[in-house]
Amino acid sequence: MGLKEDIKKFAEDIGLDVAGFASAEPFLEEKKILEQKKEKGLLSPFEEQDIELRCYPERLLPGAKTIICFAMGYLIKPYRPEETGRRDEGDKSVLKHLHGRISRYAMVKDYHCVMIDKLKAVAEFISERKRGRFKFFVDTGALPDRAAARRAGIGWIGENTCLFTQELGSWVFLGEILTDIEFEPDKPAPDLCDHCGRCVKSCPTGALMAPFQINPQRCLSYITQMRSSIPEEFRRTMGNSIFGCDTCQEACPHNDSVRIPHHPEFVPDMPAITNLMELAAMGKGNFEKIFKPTAAGWRGRNVLRRNAICVLGNMVKGETDKEKIILLLKKLMDDPSEVIREQAEWSMARITGLI
Ligand code: SF4
Ligand code: SF4
Repeated sequence: MGLKEDIKKFAEDIGLDVAGFASAEPFLEEKKILEQKKEKGLLSPFEEQDIELRCYPERLLPGAKTIICFAMGYLIKPYRPEETGRRDEGDKSVLKHLHGRISRYAMVKDYHCVMIDKLKAVAEFISERKRGRFKFFVDTGALPDRAAARRAGIGWIGENTCLFTQELGSWVFLGEILTDIEFEPDKPAPDLCDHCGRCVKSCPTGALMAPFQINPQRCLSYITQMRSSIPEEFRRTMGNSIFGCDTCQEACPHNDSVRIPHHPEFVPDMPAITNLMELAAMGKGNFEKIFKPTAAGWRGRNVLRRNAICVLGNMVKGETDKEKIILLLKKLMDDPSEVIREQAEWSMARITGLI
């Protein structure tokens, strides 16, 4: 086996499900798209704003020749479309049990930590065989990760802008090693998106404006992570979402029957709490213990509390727990955080039928 195959085998052995090699040539097509997005104000505040830096890997590592791309699956139980909770007021089965929904990726150990260690292990493996310089990326926004993954043959980009792999669907984390070592690039993956439009139709907020076009400011994934008050127009649409949104991924037929990867780092019983009352009143201790190790922890405790309070406001009228909720909301209306107080007031008004 050549070095490339040895690297792929090593990566697989340490839990990086898919690996591929791409040239570190500039991403000129992505540059055009990003410039148009910037002009229209459609860049997410969470992504790198310097487009040149993102699209010219040479700027990130002088002499860069190759991007080694990896995908790691994170689905922890079989995904069945019929289990999908919808996020509107009709999803009474979930709301009745006072539980909200957390995006799948945020229910397992924070992928940034998991993947960065694995990327470093791969670089060490390479260094023992060949001299080179390496730079690591896990969702920092500094490299166009999905375009790089497509170029490296890892998968294709769907109309919902997610990267899809053949075996694991779009339930994958992406990571890259940028290096000045030259490797033969792999062939780009074929485009297997059916262009069926289901993902675009499923988006509850209209964030997917058109195929491949997303307005991050309207995406619940962004909205449930912002620190200020949730804009009024999205509060009802949030339905039962506590953190993130999987709707456009759940809508895609390519995610219907995918392989479950079983990584020891991503265990099915990660105790992320979804009980809305517990979450709304969550103290620092529980936050540190339960959410800090996940990707839902990085925005802080009050973001999760605020979201849970918003979801409580979306409870259907006449629920048996209504009195308990009202008592809790009264308490929260005196919370030290202004955002929490304001959200509790809105939820109180909603649950008592004032709005
Ligand atoms: S994650 Fe949710 S809100 Fe965002 S584009 Fe997909 S369906 Fe729409
Ligand atoms: S739902 Fe249809 S259009 Fe959207 S990504 Fe999947 S196959 Fe493509």
